[in-house]
Amino acid sequence: MRKQLVVGNWKMNKNLQEGIDLCRSIMSQTPTSSRELVLAAPFIHLTTLVETSKTSNLKIAAQNCHQELSGAYTGEVSAAMLADIGVSYVILGHSERRTYQKESNALLAKKTDTALAQNLKVIYCFGETLQDRQSNRHFDLIKTQVTEGLFHLPSSAIKNIVLAYEPVWAIGTGETATSAQAQEMHTYIRKVLAAKYGEEIAENTSILYGGSCNPLNAKELFNQTDVDGGLIGGASLNSEDFLTISKA
Ligand code: PEP
Repeated sequence: MRKQLVVGNWKMNKNLQEGIDLCRSIMSQTPTSSRELVLAAPFIHLTTLVETSKTSNLKIAAQNCHQELSGAYTGEVSAAMLADIGVSYVILGHSERRTYQKESNALLAKKTDTALAQNLKVIYCFGETLQDRQSNRHFDLIKTQVTEGLFHLPSSAIKNIVLAYEPVWAIGTGETATSAQAQEMHTYIRKVLAAKYGEEIAENTSILYGGSCNPLNAKELFNQTDVDGGLIGGASLNSEDFLTISKA
């Protein structure tokens, strides 16, 4: 059975003490959950959050890493550094990085290789803009994002990949995909995966939905057969909403 996850993406929010408080609050209210809970925090909080959460099942994620392991890359953080401090996951390909940092599928393929080589698990994000959807290009675009970012990987590596379908038009907008739209795209992604890696791998790969997921809509989204949990932005910034979503 594939893993169910709820991942909180804090983006560039929370100072250190607020991050610790949020992490502790989530830990204190998380009885053994059938879903894995992951917190993706700013780089400078990661060491502390790994330490804070070490007695719990919570996993800590970074929101990015560099494609090289070390060297003259001022201001960057490597996958080796993340692995060294005990980070479990790294988010790659978030639409905000694709847009503001102009990250391409080719670059993300390299970042994915580097992260996996350091035994980090990768949460690989992708999604279409409203314009792509309105012009009916969304399926092709998603296929390209997944294919170019991941399909150079051997079958054995896919178990360390979590996919996150995040329609750009739903991220931070309050407008969420309907559960039917999410299910339709997740089924399609699983078909694309199966064509490359076979049914078994496709069936065992977790595909998260992200985009204005909140305590009111999470249950219906997560009830879809091919939706294996969520990547949560705004609603992950307070423990009550995040926990309600995680139990949805
Ligand atoms: C995200 O940033 O990955 C996200 C899904 O944000 P939000 O939940 O705020 O739309």
